[in-house]
Amino acid sequence: MSECLFCKIIAGEIPSNKVYEDDRCLAFYDIDPQAPTHFLVIPKEHIPSVAGVDASNAAVVAHIFTVIAQQAQRLGLDSYRVVSNIGEQAGQSVPHLHFHVLAGRDMTWPPG
Ligand code: 5GP
Ligand code: ZN
Repeated sequence: MSECLFCKIIAGEIPSNKVYEDDRCLAFYDIDPQAPTHFLVIPKEHIPSVAGVDASNAAVVAHIFTVIAQQAQRLGLDSYRVVSNIGEQAGQSVPHLHFHVLAGRDMTWPPG
């Protein structure tokens, strides 16, 4: 059994509030939302972060971005932010590639 939290969510060992699922990725609402709408999109394949993306697994990243665009449209989001933290200093707390999708409030730039 994987010790990775998000692999456990994919396996259904930890419940999640799903936004979307297919054979390659899962989208689910963040347990600690930082905006009125805040969900995560993750590949079902365990990739530690963007730093682990290479030619052998990049197709799932392109797929994830099509899912983000489709789900944002379905949820009626006309403005949103997509974020991926890589490494501890950037704020990554779960070492399984994920893209945050945040919407529903004014956002500042640059991020903190
Ligand atoms: P990171 O800090 O790595 O960029 O993002 C990890 C995200 O996963 C955080 O926003 C955190 O709230 C979320 N998270 C951590 N544990 C769980 C969980 O068990 N369920 C859900 N739905 N989200 C989680
Ligand atoms: Zn994992």
